Amino acid sequence: MRHLCDNCGKSFGEKKLKEIKDFLQRVEPGGIVPSGECPECGALCYPVAGMRFFVLQVVGDIEPKLHGPYASQKARDKMAKRLRKETAGEDGIFRLDVRADGRPEVCAYSAGFMTG
Ligand SMILES: [Zn+2]
Repeated sequence: MRHLCDNCGKSFGEKKLKEIKDFLQRVEPGGIVPSGECPECGALCYPVAGMRFFVLQVVGDIEPKLHGPYASQKARDKMAKRLRKETAGEDGIFRLDVRADGRPEVCAYSAGFMTG
């Protein structure tokens, strides 16, 4: 199983991960339990159980650009909002989920999501 860093997006094998410091302060109740700390940036890493989360940016409605994979939906959505801000709504921003069986699913963000 691979583990994805929620911050830098790199993936690591189990043995590369470091022990999580201040575990209880950093884990949200009811959230996905992280598998360890990123050896490169120290952020939390999560197991890639199946779903992988990407942001699909279509620059000027012409050139597609893929961002990710991100370890969680939350991290991916954060990136989507950032891109929308940076491009001032000029580019198409879509969410792309790749399911465990490898099938991709592209969805548009609602206008409410981006302004909220
Ligand atoms: Zn990292």
